[in-house]
Amino acid sequence: MNKRNYLTLFRNTGEITALLAHNNDISIMIQQMVEMLAEQFSANVCSIYLLNDDSQELILNATFGLKKSAIGNVKLNIGEGLVGLVMQTCEPIIDNHASKNPHFQYIPEIGEEAFDSFIAIPIVRGADKIGVLVLQRLEINHFLNEDIIALEAVATQLAGMIETAKVILIEPQKNTPMTFVTTKEMLTIKGQPASPGVASGTALIYEQLTFTDSKTDSVIGQLTGLEAIKKLENAIKISVEQIETMQKTLEQKLPEATNLIFAAHLMMLRDSSFSGAMFKLIEDGASLQDSIKEISNKFIHIFSNSPHAYMREKTDDIQDITWRLENNLDSNSNKNTKQFGIQDKIIIASTIYPSDVVKLVLEKANGLILTDGGVTSHVSIIARSLNLPLVISNDQTLKNLTHKHNIIFDGAGGDIYINPTEQTIETFNDEIYNTFSAEDFADQMQPKTFTKDGTRILLHANINLLGELKTAKALKAEGIGLYRTEFPFLVRSTFPTEEEQIETYSKLISAFENQPVCLRTLDVGGDKVLAYYDHGDDANPELGLRSIRFTLKHPTMFAKQLSAILRAGAKTTDLNIMFPMISSIDELDKSIELLNDVKAKLKKQNVDFCENPKLGIMIELPSVLSILDSLAEMVDFFCIGTNDFVQYMLAVDRGNEKIAEYYCPHHPAVLRALKQIVEQGQKSNIDISICGEMAHQMKYIPFLLGIGIRKISLDPQHMPTVQQFISNITIDEAENQANIILTKNRITEIAKLLS
Ligand code: PEP
Ligand code: MG
Repeated sequence: MNKRNYLTLFRNTGEITALLAHNNDISIMIQQMVEMLAEQFSANVCSIYLLNDDSQELILNATFGLKKSAIGNVKLNIGEGLVGLVMQTCEPIIDNHASKNPHFQYIPEIGEEAFDSFIAIPIVRGADKIGVLVLQRLEINHFLNEDIIALEAVATQLAGMIETAKVILIEPQKNTPMTFVTTKEMLTIKGQPASPGVASGTALIYEQLTFTDSKTDSVIGQLTGLEAIKKLENAIKISVEQIETMQKTLEQKLPEATNLIFAAHLMMLRDSSFSGAMFKLIEDGASLQDSIKEISNKFIHIFSNSPHAYMREKTDDIQDITWRLENNLDSNSNKNTKQFGIQDKIIIASTIYPSDVVKLVLEKANGLILTDGGVTSHVSIIARSLNLPLVISNDQTLKNLTHKHNIIFDGAGGDIYINPTEQTIETFNDEIYNTFSAEDFADQMQPKTFTKDGTRILLHANINLLGELKTAKALKAEGIGLYRTEFPFLVRSTFPTEEEQIETYSKLISAFENQPVCLRTLDVGGDKVLAYYDHGDDANPELGLRSIRFTLKHPTMFAKQLSAILRAGAKTTDLNIMFPMISSIDELDKSIELLNDVKAKLKKQNVDFCENPKLGIMIELPSVLSILDSLAEMVDFFCIGTNDFVQYMLAVDRGNEKIAEYYCPHHPAVLRALKQIVEQGQKSNIDISICGEMAHQMKYIPFLLGIGIRKISLDPQHMPTVQQFISNITIDEAENQANIILTKNRITEIAKLLS
């Protein structure tokens, strides 16, 4: 047996890995490595298997001693043979009589003899499995235990090298879409349903939407003088028409945003410093292309360097109009938005703001697939409000799709079909998938909801955008249990004034005249980012300056909102104001103090306002559980926001799909806490309701009724099914189920009972 020279081994390993910096051919590096290791350890065979992230197979990547034709062709599953076992356990194996090992797998076609001495080391990086390094020799008893330590050091180096190489070589290839997803065979990806509706169309990766696809590089772009001026004038005219059309649609769908989203675009198009400057450049001799580019770059530069978020936000506006202008250089005035690429597409996006969702709807995207985000995230909420089908899946394949891939999915089911077969498309056309809009059930809706044994349950509506009021009314909601006042703030490009807020809130209140209406004060921060406000780069935005913390930090803005709510509610009989995310009595003290200041000011000004609205708090944080009694003395009602309550009880980011399995509303701690809240509410004789997503999920409804919930606020489209469901259960049954569930200590036991 040779004595090993480990020092030489480490020097050589270091040299080979250092070579990668100069020569980025990973296969050559790995090949050099196996040859060097075979020599160093006097082995007949040295091989490296790498784990394919997608297929989860170990693939022979380099070898000294086996047939070269086997490279890329020998594939082992994790756990298969000794090599697969090493990857599975991430533990090295040394066996100097391997042919006797029950896990030994003989693969004759690779020229593998009965190599008896066997040593294999896992290549891992942190928690990531990368591959396996294997050495073999014909004779028995060749490898030493010390070899494991030396080879582990080599494997560590290799892991680093491969990781670097992956970034340089493998990842860019991954982005070459067609190498990964064919355009022919159907592929099904499981997603999480987030906003119902069937959507079909070709794929468009949102992040790849660029503004470079410009017509200015064409012949038209080279025009100068009078011809260029005419083309530009025409392009401006068409652009203005398109934007005005979108504005009209927007006014119907999103009255609260009025014309704000596109007002800036129109202003720029008509402004002398923007379009005027382009004409001036052409008059001075510049080509059409150069004049558009120069002016838009100038403004992009100015805005993108602004210290203010609302100014930087304008960069998007400039890119948007430039793109529109360039695309319209060659158009007739009748063209719609199709040329901008979004219409009829299935948009695949990772990061996207609520205001982007609005634009997608306006540009008539057919559906949205989010590769990052959660079902209770606010992008999902706004998609539901705007009836845009949405599914969430972090399957990486989605990022590799192109316009050549057809997609069909049902936002209520979650499955995404890429390149669907005729048969699959037909299934979607079948009755079961013929999605009715919730309003189709309006006639069947009873004005009041009762359990089977006649207990009265109130169904109130969660409203995000005024456009949903129509559905809520049609479906006979008995009030508004939660109006998320931040949505009008989110879909705009500047803070709304007090008057603008009054206008919005008045529309809401007058739609539900003489019925209870509950307005929650601004709940921004976390995943609800105002594009025009610097929220900063918090490491944990959900734990940051969010919700009531945000408003208390900006008392002037908060006071304006409270004033707008009180004034809008001057004539209503049942105005409710609710503070979100209250964590302490002190916070509630401050909020009430501010509300009283606002009332005093309005009184002094002799303005009409609602002097005695009911006051409530959202129960969303575990910190309030032990001070519920004191909080109850200060307010008229508690409203349980389970979306956040679950997030904060369990420390699970509600928007993180990677940990979605931990987001368990049925965790015993959550369910027992819900009971505790309801009991305290009953004891203190205050009103209790629930308004998180849990409230419309059938499996939880018996439990909620069983612990005493009698008022549910939910997205209006769920009202028909929820009413129907409630009418089929008795309070006795609900209480029995709740009592059994409350005795269980494990999530799994409860899940079983609920299924
Ligand atoms: C909740 O947290 O349950 C809730 C209704 O509020 P939001 O989803 O707006 O955070
Ligand atoms: Mg909340």
